[in-house]
Amino acid sequence: MIKKAGILALAFCLSLVILSPSLAQAQGELRVLDSSVEVEFPLQLSFNLSAESDVSITDIRLHYTVDRQSFAQVTGEVYVEFVPAATVEASWTWDMKKTGGLPPGSSVEYWWTVKDANDGRVETSPVQVQFDDNRYSWQSLTKGKVTVYWYEGEQSFAEEIMLSVQQALVRLAEDTGAYVKEAVKIYIYGSAQDLRGAMIYPQEWTGGAAFTRYSTIVIGIAPYNLSWGKRAITHELTHLVIHQMTLNPYNDLPTWLDEGLAMYNEGELSPTFTAYLNRAIAEDTLISVRSLSSPFSAYGKQSRLSYAESYSLVEFLINSYGRDKMLELLNIFSEGSSYDGALSKVYGFDTDGLDTLWRDYVAKQYQEAGTTIVAMPHHMTLFPVIVGSLPTYTSSMFSVTCPATA
Ligand SMILES: [Zn+2]
Repeated sequence: MIKKAGILALAFCLSLVILSPSLAQAQGELRVLDSSVEVEFPLQLSFNLSAESDVSITDIRLHYTVDRQSFAQVTGEVYVEFVPAATVEASWTWDMKKTGGLPPGSSVEYWWTVKDANDGRVETSPVQVQFDDNRYSWQSLTKGKVTVYWYEGEQSFAEEIMLSVQQALVRLAEDTGAYVKEAVKIYIYGSAQDLRGAMIYPQEWTGGAAFTRYSTIVIGIAPYNLSWGKRAITHELTHLVIHQMTLNPYNDLPTWLDEGLAMYNEGELSPTFTAYLNRAIAEDTLISVRSLSSPFSAYGKQSRLSYAESYSLVEFLINSYGRDKMLELLNIFSEGSSYDGALSKVYGFDTDGLDTLWRDYVAKQYQEAGTTIVAMPHHMTLFPVIVGSLPTYTSSMFSVTCPATA
């Protein structure tokens, strides 16, 4: 008897399982018919959806996340405007001109939630879309964690850049112990003009940009610009790696350290920058290390002196105290330490103490070299003149851009 009841119960359950899909169908379930996205680099992403139900669809939302380095996963939510009906087609365009652009190769994950008047609710599965610059046929070359993308020039062009990148990483590791943690992408456009076509609000002198949160560098390098390009990539790559090493939600690096490491890793200070430094030593117009902890002056002369001093400060710390101390400094900064706190802990002096010691160091260096002041050139030529206007070596030349929801 018990056995018979058990079999009946099982049969009843099975029939429910088999029947339930057709039951749901009969109720006119809310359904997403189609979902798509169109990429129009660099301007926009257009998301499209069609859905139907037996009753009016009342609410459509698009959710998205951008793959980048952050401390908390941020999800964007968009209430899509549409006229309620049983069958709807809705779309929403992410206009990068309003939010700031994303670099090529960035990845966006999105999904929809749809509701109807009967409290029906559907959530689609997340879909990844690549925001690629499909206007060019990119080739790629990967070594370790770095990928170089290019479309103009032979394989040897990319190999030469990759060699320079690897050498820069070796130098950086030898001098500071810093190393690449996250995959780095370097997009090489065939000219400055092509690059500007990939940016939302390009300045006419923009030579490149570093998107630190995305570990992505974009740069325009024509074949005749290769030596400039290699140096500029080294500079920006160093920013990316140092950013990866020290990322924390509390505090940035002092600007002199960030820029100084990037300058130092480029190689010897160029004569033009040395001239600015020597003149400031001779005229006693050096900028204080404390001032250089904040973003640099945008004015040409002060800006160049700021970079030159930053180089010299990093050179002083590495030459006098070594690589392990520099790595320790970066590690303490990665915990969100204050500027004075980090310096005191590692070196036993704060920002003002560094200022005093470093002034002695550069004064001695200056006297030993018996330097004469080199006349200031009228035009800086560190960067090639790309579009006729005079390029300047400021942080905005290679703007560090944190677009979208930064
Ligand atoms: Zn820089």
